[in-house]
Amino acid sequence: MTLDSILEEIKKANSIVILTHETPDGDAIGSSLAVKLALDNFGIKADVIIPEYSRVFKFLPGTEDILTESEIDRYDLAISLDCATLKRLAGGEYFENARKTIVIDHHGSNNMYGDLNYVNPVSPACCEILAGIFDYYNMEITQDIGKCLLTGIITDTGGFKYPATTAETFEFTAELLRKGINVSDIYKRVMQTVSFAHFELAKKVMDRLEILEDGKVTFTYINKEDEEEVNAEPGDHEGLVEIGRDIEGVEVSIFIRQSEKGKDEYKASLRSSDYVNVSDVCIMFAGGGHPRAAGATVKGTVEEVKQKLLKEIKKVL
Ligand code: 5GP
Ligand code: MN
Repeated sequence: MTLDSILEEIKKANSIVILTHETPDGDAIGSSLAVKLALDNFGIKADVIIPEYSRVFKFLPGTEDILTESEIDRYDLAISLDCATLKRLAGGEYFENARKTIVIDHHGSNNMYGDLNYVNPVSPACCEILAGIFDYYNMEITQDIGKCLLTGIITDTGGFKYPATTAETFEFTAELLRKGINVSDIYKRVMQTVSFAHFELAKKVMDRLEILEDGKVTFTYINKEDEEEVNAEPGDHEGLVEIGRDIEGVEVSIFIRQSEKGKDEYKASLRSSDYVNVSDVCIMFAGGGHPRAAGATVKGTVEEVKQKLLKEIKKVL
């Protein structure tokens, strides 16, 4: 059983590093901190390397120990969480240099790049997979670990509203509530409160939103100048893609964000409402994700990127 082999590798390793995907969301950070805290409780030390993340998640226990880089370049064991491909892994060099590698993820597009891979594409969040793993290992889910796991579960299920949400999602949340975790407080922090910069970016995104393909597709964008103008910080663009998706009749929402100032390259975020598999669309651009939420990096100007994406989307509308 993969889970037994994973535990063996963890016990054998003298140095462990925990990594996750770039522009990490709640599931990425929640998973990383939860694994670190769980290992701590077993007397096993691990480093978490996350070069940059949204201050929304600063309330989580263990963030004070997050490293942006490490002096160790060859860890005994690297654990990648919530990340479909090595290319997307922040600090991927630590993974490549590690003696042994483990991948735990819930992306259908995961290409099994670890020595040991535990991937469940049906799970709504990597944090929900971890809840099952900790249970299997008889590791106690403390309040701190629970807060981290719940953060990932809430963000990746869109606040329990996406169809991937399971009965187990609610059962686990109920368990945490009984343990005294303030579910409402976490919900408010990660789903409701937005920064002023996010609010200003949302206004621009709404102003520029184009409704295409008989109302089935929306397109909008931000460039680096917009982000500078509103003093955006990492994570301030999160959720902007949902503005288009939530309009009645819209099947696919496209939001693109410039990778670097002056560069003709954009990070595309796609969301779908009912039936379009946006992960398949993004795979055409060497990206990936989930059927209803996916991303890719696309070269070109705003107009060129828009046309490239539209061409693929029209085939599956
Ligand atoms: P977002 O649009 O929020 O950045 O990402 C939506 C989903 O797609 C997330 O699950 C994310 O991990 C995945 N995703 C985003 N961009 C990429 C990419 O460039 N490559 C792959 N493989 N997955 C991506
Ligand atoms: Mn996730």
